[in-house]
Amino acid sequence: MKIADTILDLIGDTPLVKLHKVTDGVSATVLVKLEYLNPGGSSKDRIATRIIDAAEREGHLLPGGTIVEPTSGNTGVGLALVAQQRGYRCVFVLPDKVGEDKRNVLTAYGAEIVVTPTSVAPDHPDSYYSVSDRLAREIPGAFKPNQYANPNGPLSHYETTGPEIWRDTDGRVTHFVAGVGTGGTITGTGRYLREVSGDTVRIIGADPEGSVYSGGTGRPYLVEGVGEDFWPAAYDPSVVHEVIAVSDAESFAMTRRLALEEGILVGGSSGMAVVAALRAATTLSADDTIVVLLPDGGRGYLGKIFNDGWMRSYGFTNAPAGNTVADLLE
Ligand code: PMP
Repeated sequence: MKIADTILDLIGDTPLVKLHKVTDGVSATVLVKLEYLNPGGSSKDRIATRIIDAAEREGHLLPGGTIVEPTSGNTGVGLALVAQQRGYRCVFVLPDKVGEDKRNVLTAYGAEIVVTPTSVAPDHPDSYYSVSDRLAREIPGAFKPNQYANPNGPLSHYETTGPEIWRDTDGRVTHFVAGVGTGGTITGTGRYLREVSGDTVRIIGADPEGSVYSGGTGRPYLVEGVGEDFWPAAYDPSVVHEVIAVSDAESFAMTRRLALEEGILVGGSSGMAVVAALRAATTLSADDTIVVLLPDGGRGYLGKIFNDGWMRSYGFTNAPAGNTVADLLE
């Protein structure tokens, strides 16, 4: 029998799959690691498990405790999932710009949400950061994971993501590409792959144009989950050989192509990472194997990247027209 005892036992061990179409003209093998196949739908399930395990071990989280974090995205889902299984209460603080679907996925797992105004400065008492700090201070038994600084984030990738890639490629991986948000994925996975390979694997970050990791100031971009306007402690720049900046337009166009041409429905940061990988691949040969981590699935972006009207409203071009049923019926 092949039965998992709990849903948490299904976190990690995500598969690698080869790209065939979007890699046209590329000699190197390009493999993508499908993190949306984690039970909560993203790579953040990995960090949630390790952060909560460590907090329990170190006595920061006691039975009946409450997890408080400012997050609207994948980390919230991962934490909510682990909290549900372990009997903790979860309170997430979200800015009011976060859409209803994202709020509902958190409450579906039993988390409580507190919505704060987007239009106030970070040091304002009503800001997302101030409210979460206050709740963490005032709720008895509260624990704040702080994914931007918690060393267990990068450690989870050092202990799981890195070894999985090395094992599943039989040590043939030569390049690793990942988008940088907190920096935990690239720091942990990159450190492991450099160590285990005798420092031959090259680590490449992908970053939205305008973000600090690729030399920007934090100028706004639309791709979600990656890029920052500050340098988080979870990111160790010494692990990363190179950071490639990618525009929103390129990220979204590739995200659409991955669904249309490869059957892989993923989010915008995944498209961004593939663009960076293909750019790096232009100088590589058939002896090279690039592994690209795709952090989450595309279902959370149906109203945005996969919506022609939304894409057009930001001036992005859509899938090629002229061969649709609507065109044929005209
Ligand atoms: N893509 C998405 C969709 C994410 O939610 C995240 C996490 N913020 C990342 C990429 C980047 O991962 P990391 O925080 O480990 O750098």
